[in-house]
Amino acid sequence: MASISPVLKQATPVVVDHARGSWIHGTDGVAYLDFTTGIGVTSTGHCHPKIVEAAREQVGSIIHAQYTTVMHKPLLELTEKLGDVLPGGLDSVFYANSGSEAVEAAVRLSRMATGRPNIIVFQGGFHGRTVAAASLTTAGTRFSAGFSPLMAGVHMSAFPYAYRYGWDEETTVDFALQELDYLLKTRTAPEDTAAFLIEPALGDGGYLPTPPRFLEGLRERANRHGIKLIFDEVQTGVGRTGKFWGHQHSAATPDILITAKGIASGFPISAIAASAETMSKAWPGSQGGTYGGNAVAAAAGVATLAVIEEEGLVDNARVRGDQLQQGLKEIQSRFPVLGDVRGLGLMQGIEFTDPNGSPDTATAAAVQQETTKQGLLTLTCGPAGNVVRLIPALIVSEDEIATGLQRFEAALSAVCDRAQSQTGN
Ligand code: PMP
Repeated sequence: MASISPVLKQATPVVVDHARGSWIHGTDGVAYLDFTTGIGVTSTGHCHPKIVEAAREQVGSIIHAQYTTVMHKPLLELTEKLGDVLPGGLDSVFYANSGSEAVEAAVRLSRMATGRPNIIVFQGGFHGRTVAAASLTTAGTRFSAGFSPLMAGVHMSAFPYAYRYGWDEETTVDFALQELDYLLKTRTAPEDTAAFLIEPALGDGGYLPTPPRFLEGLRERANRHGIKLIFDEVQTGVGRTGKFWGHQHSAATPDILITAKGIASGFPISAIAASAETMSKAWPGSQGGTYGGNAVAAAAGVATLAVIEEEGLVDNARVRGDQLQQGLKEIQSRFPVLGDVRGLGLMQGIEFTDPNGSPDTATAAAVQQETTKQGLLTLTCGPAGNVVRLIPALIVSEDEIATGLQRFEAALSAVCDRAQSQTGN
């Protein structure tokens, strides 16, 4: 008898029966408020009627129209719709299936377009699990250990993580930019550097917004040295942060943008966008794939973009995100173990620290487990696993955020009470 790989450990014991909107109904009969959205994927909520309808209709017309054999209408439509939301000048799109695949396509393109070998990534970045994507990932050695050699030509620079350094944001940004300049002087010359690759907010690396001035500093250096600036918007894109793209909290724009996850409400599709001039530098044969730009996923993508616009979901993410962050900050004032509450829109992280300021992984893990018992699904992240992350659907309501906050606090109280009774304090 076959079984699922034991390495695929589940963050919760829930087996899904069905799901609607912000709610997952388990086979145990419990309705769980879902603040995980399949790691930031089900942007329009579970089984939004318009997404379901678009996918059903497409399944009846054609399911798989391989895009280097025949073209299909949903992909043309999705490309046109993306054109309305992509940053100016990024008017050429290549499609794949997963975030990792798109990251690798972006890296290939940057090397081909510049004729240079090296990629600079930033500490704590997560870019995927395929070998090249894992080589670019520095959010924890668990993603890249045990299968070396990794892809060559990757260099890591500091990320402005003010809370970890214990500095203010301005000082930390200055430091991280100086470290980058130092790297360009000491290890990878600009003439050898194809791209900077960065998330507008660290995702798996700890739910840390990238300070706007840092992104702008990268843009300035990229311009000065002819380096491509790649924004990995796999987790931050499609309204998640309260702007359509996470980088729009800054004045910086990318040369190559990577999107996936929320773009099709749960169907697997990813894309990279660049200027037609940059895209034309991709070598023949370097872009393709059996399943890339699947017709049902593309139809779901078209419907997702329409729902986001019709229902004002980018604004909703901003307003409900502010409500969530404010509520978390109030809870923080009662629970000192919540060292840092931070995030943009509906991408909020709570970093757990002990009284010495060190990561408190055990409490974060216990709270994440306890939230399930309180009927709220959450995840952890960060190199030390000491950040609980909340990723509600963009359709989340005011009441649902309030319920989520109550359940989160109930879980926190239960864990802290247990710890207190064990130590007798
Ligand atoms: N980049 C970022 C920023 C991500 O968050 C992820 C997935 N968590 C990936 C890339 C990889 O995406 P996938 O798992 O679809 O390969």
